[in-house]
Amino acid sequence: MAEPESLRDRAIQRGISVQRFNRGLLRRIAERENEKLFKAIEKRIKLAIRAARRRGPLVATERNQTVQQRLNVVSRITRNRLNQEAGEIYDEVLELAKQERDRQEAMLIAVLGVKIKHITDAEVERLVDRHFNGAMLGQWLRHLATQTDEKIRRKVQAGLSADEEDEVIAARVTDDRRSVFSETKAAIAAIASSATLSSVSRVQQAAWLKTDGQIDRYMWTAILDHRTCPTCMALDGKVFDVGRGPIPTAHLLCRCVAIPLLAGSEPPEVTSYSEWLTDQPESIQNDILGETKARLFRSGKFEIDEFVDNKGTPLSLDEMRGLDPDLMA
Ligand SMILES: [Zn+2]
Repeated sequence: MAEPESLRDRAIQRGISVQRFNRGLLRRIAERENEKLFKAIEKRIKLAIRAARRRGPLVATERNQTVQQRLNVVSRITRNRLNQEAGEIYDEVLELAKQERDRQEAMLIAVLGVKIKHITDAEVERLVDRHFNGAMLGQWLRHLATQTDEKIRRKVQAGLSADEEDEVIAARVTDDRRSVFSETKAAIAAIASSATLSSVSRVQQAAWLKTDGQIDRYMWTAILDHRTCPTCMALDGKVFDVGRGPIPTAHLLCRCVAIPLLAGSEPPEVTSYSEWLTDQPESIQNDILGETKARLFRSGKFEIDEFVDNKGTPLSLDEMRGLDPDLMA
């Protein structure tokens, strides 16, 4: 029988390499965005604005018609390019999920000596394309294309109606910060990142479910440092039945991993976030929790998981007041 230590080490090492994959994926997406994805759209938007200008002296309806026609071209390109990007992201995430399947199957043989029923490619696909914020991964990205397209139209038309400079209108769509493009880029990164991390988690759960109960629980493990968020602090060290509890990722850029536990075994002894935080100097505690919450934490009357509600959302200071009015005075 394997040492629980080895399951833990493997899970943490794998977590690190999945994070590395994730960073690589985000870099590849950013490169595609800069090289072709948004370049083509930007070019068409500028053409649309310029065409509208040339029509300037004509009656408003004619100018409007020209803009509409040009914006239809922008729409087509935006949807095409973003859907193409969605396909590339999906393929990469699916590839990683298949790797995770192979890795889990090999690990279960090596560590437990159990051979599990193979998780088919079709099953992996279903696990990857599962609900993500209420929609399938593919749907979500198509929705993003539609949303981006509508925003572009609104900004261009509003800018033309207000008779703004061409560059000013274009910048609202294409600038690096606070523009339509920057919002879409942030959304793509968030979707890709969540899809990567949660697909890996789902494949793990699916593999453990096939062990006939030999792996029956898992332990949520957070990386312990100042970047750990209250949600993950609260989940850290908690044990759930396989297939029944929350699975990483808890939020954007979550670095948590699920550590499989053998039936009948005790969860590995690890420093909990609470213990780690207790050992930190006051200044660090204040930094992480905020001064008021840090004071509550130091009072020793609360566990770290009392700082979030039952959905893992951090409590506001007002909600905290309800916990102990004296401490907040
Ligand atoms: Zn986390």
